[in-house]
Amino acid sequence: MPKISKTDQEWRAELSPEQFEVLRHGATERPFSGQYVNAKEDGTYRCAACGAELFSSDTKFDSGTGWPSFTAAAAEGTVITHEDHSYGMRRVEVRCANCDAHLGHVFPDGPGPTGMRYCINGCALDLDTEGKSGT
Ligand SMILES: [Zn+2]
Repeated sequence: MPKISKTDQEWRAELSPEQFEVLRHGATERPFSGQYVNAKEDGTYRCAACGAELFSSDTKFDSGTGWPSFTAAAAEGTVITHEDHSYGMRRVEVRCANCDAHLGHVFPDGPGPTGMRYCINGCALDLDTEGKSGT
């Protein structure tokens, strides 16, 4: 169960309309429309809804898809995945483990070492360049 649980009304008050549609209703921003697609800064990508650490800039790569893409989550258990059969496709949805926000999808066609491509909506992320830990 997610640690943070709020009503639609509460989320709507905290998020932009676009973030609300993506994070709470599983919408997808248009490719190349969102932030961080070409971001190269070092930092930690946090959940735009709850601030949980989700991805590290170390695993970000240029997928050419128009969405920020990562090969791995920041740590085990920071994101959860669900089978998603919407729109007649079989995809694996990625959600924030802390607040159950929809982030994007993960596909098994990424580069090494994981071979995974976490395809994440830019508006679902908040890049924190201050609190970078280690490396
Ligand atoms: Zn979250």
